[in-house]
Amino acid sequence: MRCPKCGFRDDKVIDSRQSRDGSSIRRRRVCLQCAFRFTTYEEIERSDIRVIKRDRTHEIFDRRKLANSLAKACEKRPVSLVTLEQAVDDIIHELETNGREINSAEIGTKVLSKLRDIDEVAYLRYASVHRRFEEIEDFMEEVRALGRRVKTNAAQRELFPPAEQPANHGRV
Ligand SMILES: [Zn+2]
Repeated sequence: MRCPKCGFRDDKVIDSRQSRDGSSIRRRRVCLQCAFRFTTYEEIERSDIRVIKRDRTHEIFDRRKLANSLAKACEKRPVSLVTLEQAVDDIIHELETNGREINSAEIGTKVLSKLRDIDEVAYLRYASVHRRFEEIEDFMEEVRALGRRVKTNAAQRELFPPAEQPANHGRV
C-alpha cells in the first residue's frame, strides 16, 4: 500500500481488526520509510446492491461513499472512528435486509436516525445537506427541538451564525 505521505510502497500492518458483523477488516499500517501511520479497509464488494437515486438513475452501492458522508458530517466532532465504522456497518446491515434495490432517500433516513444518536451537530449538518425540507421552518423547528435538548448552543451557532440568518428564505 502506497504511503499517503511520502509515496513509499512498503509498509507494515500494526493492527488488524474485524468489524462487528465481520463484513470488513480495518488495518492500521505504518510506512517503513517515514513511519507515517494510516488505515486501510478491506471489504466485500457490494456489487449486488443497487441504489436508486432521486432522478431514477441507478448506481452500485458504495460503502466508502456512505462512510465519507458520515465522516464529513462528523468532522471536528467528538466522534471516534470506531463509532463511525459501527454506524456504517449497522446501516449496511439494515439496508441489506431490505433487498437489493435501495432508494437513496432511504439511505439518507437511516443515516439521519444513526447520527441523531451519535452527535446532534453532525445530525443537523447531514440533514441540512441531504434532506429536502419542505419549508425552511421545518428545519428551524428541528433545530429548536434539538436546542431544548442540547445544553450548549453549539448546533445553532454553527449552522446559523448571526450574519447568515435565513430570514426570508423562500417566503413571500
Ligand atoms: Zn511514508
